[in-house]
Amino acid sequence: MKLLHTNFYLHLYGRHRGVTGSCFLGSTHFPNKKNVRFLVDCGSFQGVDNLGYLDLNDVIPFDTQKIDFVLITHNHIDHIGLLPLLVNQGYTGPIYITKPGYGLIDIPINEAWKVHCKGKLNPSYERSDVESLFNQISGVSFNQKVHPKKNVEITFFKNGHLVGASVIEVKFTYDGMDDIRLLFTGDYHYKNLFFDVEKIPIQNRKNPYSLVVCESTYGNMDSTDERCKPILATKISEAIKNGMKVIIPTFAMGRTQEIAYLIKCMQNTELIPESIGIWQGGTSAREITNRFKYNDLGFKPNMRDFLPKNFHFVLSKERHQVCEKLLDSPNPSIIISPSGMASYGAVKTFITKAISQNDVLIIFPGYCSKDSKGHELICTPKGTEIEYGGYSQIRNCDVAISGEISAHAKRDELLAFLKDMAEPKSILINHGEENDKIAFSNYLKNHFSSEIEIFNPDYGYSINSNGIYEVFPSSFQLF
Ligand SMILES: [Zn+2]
Repeated sequence: MKLLHTNFYLHLYGRHRGVTGSCFLGSTHFPNKKNVRFLVDCGSFQGVDNLGYLDLNDVIPFDTQKIDFVLITHNHIDHIGLLPLLVNQGYTGPIYITKPGYGLIDIPINEAWKVHCKGKLNPSYERSDVESLFNQISGVSFNQKVHPKKNVEITFFKNGHLVGASVIEVKFTYDGMDDIRLLFTGDYHYKNLFFDVEKIPIQNRKNPYSLVVCESTYGNMDSTDERCKPILATKISEAIKNGMKVIIPTFAMGRTQEIAYLIKCMQNTELIPESIGIWQGGTSAREITNRFKYNDLGFKPNMRDFLPKNFHFVLSKERHQVCEKLLDSPNPSIIISPSGMASYGAVKTFITKAISQNDVLIIFPGYCSKDSKGHELICTPKGTEIEYGGYSQIRNCDVAISGEISAHAKRDELLAFLKDMAEPKSILINHGEENDKIAFSNYLKNHFSSEIEIFNPDYGYSINSNGIYEVFPSSFQLF
């Protein structure tokens, strides 16, 4: 640490260790002794609970009433899932998200509520908390400045990770002092099939940020990597030619609709015949697909018409019946269904039945965290036993994975994003598996002279206009 303490500074704490449960708490100290506290995201912990950390989903480990405002980077459950619990624990202040994000946030929150209640006698929050939450959320236009408190300015910039996703700038000002400027990348991608992703305006990029909090999901992989090669269309069309059924586990929001569009393009180029049935599972995914089609979410005009021919929704009440019909049939079909990591969601019904069948290809079009069932499935060799959906079975189906349409920028793309701005004073790497965070940190150290830290929830970070100047042990408490 080479930077000096001043009387205008910020403490930043986080909750997440890996790639789920995203939540940062900032506590800004102004020279006049005033404090402003805020959250960036408030996400659920997900995955298979072999570490006991899913218990964290029942706890908000600080006094919510001390928080002044909440900022949301995007509508994935690992970034918003604990908002209702925050409200239950007494938070009554504003929550800001982008306008397209606002137009969709009810769907994942309602889904989180269903998941949360499942099998619980005493859920840790009530339905009324969900309703109150919706009244606290505001949708903000991209690049519009918001001032939730005096001396605080927030701006949401476009982010291709997901419709409505943002990169968030948080600026603290004080007369006669240099600004403290933070940039939270959230989960980041520089492009999206459905909408154009403009760069952060030059006036925001030309001066160095005090701190950039940067994700690192692909902190150890370049966009030229073998795993990013476009193989989806080839794999799917080959399987269909061989008379196989194809199951594509996807995230309900964004990925499901991108896959539908990819299949439409395959029909248009005659890679697959239009006679093959395309089936989409998942209640939330159905609602999102309909909003993509009918609501104004800022899409390119031609992307409204993204659904392939012979497309059907699988209603939850007929899921088992449709599953039997499709997977027992000698004819090929394509099933797109959440969740993307196959640990839960409608896709479990299909995968449970398909594992033992040698006429099925399961292809993962995105990232599977190491604690997910999808990862386990990928790592289980064909012909060996796997426990899935409550059954132990021999895996006879084919399994493939492709990073081709991942929603995250790869290491070189993250570098290009960071290089496009004045060199940040400091960079805090978060949201990645441990090895990827370390690899990304070493990679960035070759390109920047900034202070570079790997985020650790057991520590707090002191930041002033010149960046991180202190790292201290912390248990995510307010100071
Ligand atoms: Zn995300």
